[in-house]
Amino acid sequence: MLTDHFNRTIDYLRLSVTDRCDLRCSYCMPEGFNDYEEPEHWLSFDEIERVVGAFARLGVSQVRLTGGEPLLRARLPELAGRLKRLPGLRDLSLSTNATQLEKHAVALMQAGVSRINVSLDSLNAERIAQIVGRDVLPKILAGLEAGKRAGFSPIKINMVAMAGVNDDEIADMVAFCIRHDYTLRLIETMPMGDTGRNVQHLDLQPIKAQLRQQFGLIEGFVTGSGPARYLQSPDGKFTVGFITPISQHFCATCNRVRLAVDGTLYLCLGQDEKVELRPLLRSGASDQALEQAIQ
Ligand code: SAM
Ligand code: SF4
Repeated sequence: MLTDHFNRTIDYLRLSVTDRCDLRCSYCMPEGFNDYEEPEHWLSFDEIERVVGAFARLGVSQVRLTGGEPLLRARLPELAGRLKRLPGLRDLSLSTNATQLEKHAVALMQAGVSRINVSLDSLNAERIAQIVGRDVLPKILAGLEAGKRAGFSPIKINMVAMAGVNDDEIADMVAFCIRHDYTLRLIETMPMGDTGRNVQHLDLQPIKAQLRQQFGLIEGFVTGSGPARYLQSPDGKFTVGFITPISQHFCATCNRVRLAVDGTLYLCLGQDEKVELRPLLRSGASDQALEQAIQ
């Protein structure tokens, strides 16, 4: 098992399959960002399968495909299928902006992806265009519908809550999620370098208290809960999660590490520690050496 020196068990890997994205969300991409890694630095499917296999042997049972925008990586369903067949890997999920989900939903489901998280910060087309840099709300909504038809469950909506940008839309988003049976997750902006700092931080604690009172919410539990803390309506019809890196830390229960598309293993979003796994993969290192490096 992978256990760190705070006695936290690491059983969850966020696997970035591309650093490219078709959107430019104001809290995510640095302005003018176009400094993409060249594809030769990207791990191939064989290399990804080998590293994830090593993680699985060390006790990682959950993998989330992410990016950039993971659906921009060509043949992603093929990679998903290969990972899902690795012994020990029981849960494969995807975080996406959903602009391409309509095309890929069925293939991803058939490949063994069971849960999806979709970024959706507003239900207003103009506002979405301002936040993400393109007019994509209809595509996102079509992607979500396709995800529902394909049978993903649960579908979680990630809404990054920003003061003066979309904080007036939380009630609308709650109604939208109840109507479509989506799980809403409200996220505080996390400062990452300069990115995320230029956005007006919104403390989610007062919003949590207000929703708790309005809907009579009680503590809830959701599969793959990670850093989110969930509340549920007593009839179970509405679930809302809060990811609050600033107002209520969740470091003590962290269970995850991150693998970038170039094979860099990051231990924490808020720290600089990293381990380069690509040189090992490309110099003929044994499985044992790979596992030792991860450990
Ligand atoms: N492109 C995919 C998407 O948008 O879901 C996957 C990658 S994206 C980086 C994963 C999640 O991180 C999204 O829900 C996004 O809203 C969130 N995110 C990005 N930058 C953030 C920040 N500075 N603070 C909080 N959440 C952030
Ligand atoms: Fe792209 Fe997701 Fe970042 Fe938005 S949050 S710019 S969709 S990677």
